[in-house]
Amino acid sequence: MSTVMSTPTLEIRPSDHAASAEERTKRMTHPGFGRVFTDHMVVVPYTEGHGWGQGVLKAYGPIEMDPASSVLHYGQAIFEGFKAYKQRDGGIACFRPEANARRFNTSAARLAMPELPEALFLEAATALIRQDQAWVPGAVGESLYMRPLMIATEAALGVRASNEYLFLLMASPSGAYFPAGVKPVTVWISDDYVRAAPGGTGFAKCAGNYAASLVAQRQAKGEGCDQVVWLDAVHRKYIEEMGGMNIFFVYQENGETVVVTPELTGTLLPGITRDSLLLLAREQGWRAEERRISVEEWRTDIQEGRMTEVFACGTAAVITPVGHVKSRQGDWTIRDGETGPVAAKLREILLNLQHGVSPDTHGWMKKIV
Ligand SMILES: *Cc1c(COP(=O)(O)O)cnc(C)c1O
Repeated sequence: MSTVMSTPTLEIRPSDHAASAEERTKRMTHPGFGRVFTDHMVVVPYTEGHGWGQGVLKAYGPIEMDPASSVLHYGQAIFEGFKAYKQRDGGIACFRPEANARRFNTSAARLAMPELPEALFLEAATALIRQDQAWVPGAVGESLYMRPLMIATEAALGVRASNEYLFLLMASPSGAYFPAGVKPVTVWISDDYVRAAPGGTGFAKCAGNYAASLVAQRQAKGEGCDQVVWLDAVHRKYIEEMGGMNIFFVYQENGETVVVTPELTGTLLPGITRDSLLLLAREQGWRAEERRISVEEWRTDIQEGRMTEVFACGTAAVITPVGHVKSRQGDWTIRDGETGPVAAKLREILLNLQHGVSPDTHGWMKKIV
C-alpha cells in the first residue's frame, strides 16, 4: 500500500447559495430520513502514490465522474453512518464517531481501498457540522445524520483495485424515526436469500451488501412484513441480523434479565449501537451474552415464555422492537406485538446519553460545538 503522508487540512469554501433561514426551516419540517441535505459537503481525493490530497468543504451538489469510473462497474464503495445531536446545554456532539472512523477503515481494507486517516475523518465531520450547525434539529430523537463514503473513481475497466478514490461526507437532518412513537415491526425470515457468507463482505459496510439485500426486502414486503431477518449462509438456521440492524433477544431466567445477541462471526456487521447496548445492559445489572441463536430456539423460547422481547438496533432507528415473525416454518407473535420494558429502557438510556441529558461516563460523546 502507499506510504503514509501528512494530511493537509481542509480548505473551507462556503457556498454562495446557502438556503435562507426561512427555506431551511421549511426543509427541516418533517425531514424524514435521508431526503434533505445541508448546504455543504466535504470532498477529499486520493491518488495512489500521492495519498490523500487537498480536501475541500464546499457547496453541496452533484459530482462529476467519468462513466468508466470503476465504482460504477465493479462496486468499490463503502460508507458509514453516525449522528450529531443537539445537547441539553445547547452544544452539538457526535456519538462515538471514532468507532465509525475505525470501522470505515476495516471496510476499506476488505474492499482493497486505501485507509483514511482517522484524524481526517473526524476533521471532515467537525468542519461540516460546524459549518452547517443551523441544520442540527433540536428535539430528542432528532439529529443530523452524517454519511461518509468512499468510491473508486479511476476511469479503467480492467478488474483490479482502483488507483483513484474520492472520500465524500454529507449531512442530512433527520426527524424522529418513529414520529408516532416506537411501533414494533413485523419481520420475514428469509430462506431464499442470504446477506453474507463466510469469507465474504458481511462485516464491511459496503454498498454491494445493500444492493444484494433489496430483493429480499421486497419479498418481505410482499409477505406483509416490514423487514427481513437474515440467517447464516451455511446452516441456514442461525439468526444474523434484521435488515441493516443488529438484533437482540431478551430472556427472563429465574428473575434475571438476560439479553442475547448473535456473536460476531465475520458475516455480521459489528454495529456500534450493538456494542454500546451490550455494555449499557450490563450496567443495568442484566446479563449480556453474544452467542448463536437458531430460528427454532426463537420460536420455542417465545412459545414457552422464556423469551420475552426481541428488538433490533442501529444508528438510524436506535431501537426497533419486533412484534411479529413470519416464515415458511410458521408465524409467531412476541409480547402481543407490544414494545417491552427492556427495549424501552435501553432506548431511553441511549437517547439520554446522546442528547447530553445523562452524564457521558464512557467518553462516547465527541463535542463539536
Ligand atoms: C450499519 C449497520 C448496522 C448497525 O450499525 P450501527 O453502527 O449500530 O449503526 C447493522 N447491520 C448492518 C448490516 C449495517 O449496515
